[in-house]
Amino acid sequence: MTPSLATLIRTDPPTSLGELIAREAAAVQAASSIRCANPECETGEKVAFGDGRGRPKLYCCESCRRSADHTRSRLQQDLTELDDLAASLEGSARERRTVEGLIARRRWLLRSYRE
Ligand SMILES: [Zn+2]
Repeated sequence: MTPSLATLIRTDPPTSLGELIAREAAAVQAASSIRCANPECETGEKVAFGDGRGRPKLYCCESCRRSADHTRSRLQQDLTELDDLAASLEGSARERRTVEGLIARRRWLLRSYRE
């Protein structure tokens, strides 16, 4: 099994940047591409780290970035409204559990939408 970079560094600490680069080359390689950061992306396209110029992309296209921004914003607004109303409105225990479920689902979804 190929060791992790952290393991290689711990077991054989590099004394120069050249040695550090060699350790990295011998370690498990970090991915150079990822899936689009839009959880609802349907293209299946991978996003490459890039060529070192500019900020690395997280989305396969501008449409996915805008869509993810819009969905994240909507979920955050929904959460704010639901939290406020859940704290102030009366209802049965069953209704409260239902509303708590609505809140929990949005919090869960938001975890997959990067800032
Ligand atoms: Zn995408």
